[in-house]
Amino acid sequence: MSTLPRKIALFGGTFDPVHLGHLHLATLAWEALGLDEVRFIPCKISPHKTGTHPASPEDRLKMLQLATADLPWAVVDDIELTSGTPNFSYRTAEEIQRQQPDAELYWIMGGDQWAALPRWKHPEKLAAIVQFIVLARDDAPAPREGFRFHLVHGEHPASATQIREAIAAGRSSDDLPRTVAAYIRDHGLYPFSPG
Ligand code: ATP
Repeated sequence: MSTLPRKIALFGGTFDPVHLGHLHLATLAWEALGLDEVRFIPCKISPHKTGTHPASPEDRLKMLQLATADLPWAVVDDIELTSGTPNFSYRTAEEIQRQQPDAELYWIMGGDQWAALPRWKHPEKLAAIVQFIVLARDDAPAPREGFRFHLVHGEHPASATQIREAIAAGRSSDDLPRTVAAYIRDHGLYPFSPG
């Protein structure tokens, strides 16, 4: 008897912090495509990224583990945090393909990242490995020649930047899983940083 390939979707991001928008998109993708697994892959944060103080890789990983604890189909993978080289999504996908040669691989992203994809390193190499699952917002993402893609619909207003700014200003956010909000509070993450 032949078995269907495992459908694994890779979901990369800074997740600084993971919020309800990320979980919403992952859930939409899981439902729409009948995924077996969504793999959250936090990336290194460029030291040049300005703005509010970023959380450490360990804290971002821990918050992802807390946020996904009740989702049996969610996995948190530190592959990009532990690699000694810069993060390129096509390399991450190649490595996961090596680990899971029989799986059908997908890559989940918001419409903003779909628009930015031509500026990624070797998007065509990534497209050869994965099918894209893209969140459609008001402006529907356009198909790209040779890229297999699926649209999912359903916006969520959460923004990690706004959450960091709110916490730095001493406010709370409704867009965080309860356990993540408690972790941020207990560890004093996203303190006010002038400049
Ligand atoms: P920041 O505000 O720090 O840029 P972000 O949440 O937009 O944060 P990432 O953590 O890198 O940035 O996002 C990871 C992925 O989640 C991206 O593909 C992004 O498009 C998507 N995403 C971010 N916010 C939402 C949201 N509210 N709803 C659905 N998808 C989202």
